[in-house]
Amino acid sequence: MKVFTTTREVQQYLAELRSKGLSTGFVATMGALHHGHLSLIAQAKRANDIVICSIFVNPTQFNDPADLEKYPRPIAHDTQMLEQAGCDILFNPPVSELYADNEHWHLALGEIEHLLEGEFRPGHYQGVTQVVYKLFNIIKPDTAYFGQKDYQQFMVITKMVELLDLPVKLIMCPIIREEDGLAMSSRNIHLTVEDRLHSLILSKTLNWVKQNFDRNNIAGLQIKAADAINAEDGVSLEYFELTDADTLQPASPHTKSVVALVAARVGKTRLIDNVLMN
Ligand code: AMP
Repeated sequence: MKVFTTTREVQQYLAELRSKGLSTGFVATMGALHHGHLSLIAQAKRANDIVICSIFVNPTQFNDPADLEKYPRPIAHDTQMLEQAGCDILFNPPVSELYADNEHWHLALGEIEHLLEGEFRPGHYQGVTQVVYKLFNIIKPDTAYFGQKDYQQFMVITKMVELLDLPVKLIMCPIIREEDGLAMSSRNIHLTVEDRLHSLILSKTLNWVKQNFDRNNIAGLQIKAADAINAEDGVSLEYFELTDADTLQPASPHTKSVVALVAARVGKTRLIDNVLMN
């Protein structure tokens, strides 16, 4: 695997590969890799000649400085995992390589920016689109792979690609879970033994809602789900919502595809998860 930390070098190398007609698949990450990330790499490998992974803990998408500070950065272990997964290129730039001082960014993303995650993490999606735009511009991938785990993020990036007419195909990959149902996340390492047990209420509740999904009783399901999560020790619910999977607006009995999305603090760790109802 080739490892690059500068924009100029990775661009030069990729230009050579592209001139040979090789197709490129890209996976953007913040590192602390787990099997969720590796599933994206595997999917990219199946469909492309060259797979590029970026590891960059993007400061502009963190609205909580403590969260940014404690974000895990096990780069040596990550590099080893990517080698084993057969990734071809790792792009791991320092912050100064991607951002000039006081750089301004704003994209008119519309209402989706302020819903759900946007409400609890103001400015988050401006930071996400800022960094993903920069990475797309540097890497120029044919296809980019993102996880359903960050469902709203996928929709926001789709919107950016449409708004800016970016020449990249986006693929959403399924959520990879631990055996007991917890969605894999780099933040899970912050969970204490007790938190880890309590965290299961999120995937359990999502599954319960899926099994009991009834278009005519969306409000009732939402209340029962929120009550179940709030009743769990050490868990503080931010939102549990059944929404239209295409717009993230509240679902109604007429909504064709529905997604249930949840965010909660488990101990000191903020977790998100979701399940498509149909
Ligand atoms: P992150 O490093 O958390 O920014 O995530 C990088 C990419 O991996 C994003 O597209 C995430 O949606 C995806 N991802 C994170 N966790 C999982 C998971 N458990 N299953 C599938 N994809 C995931």
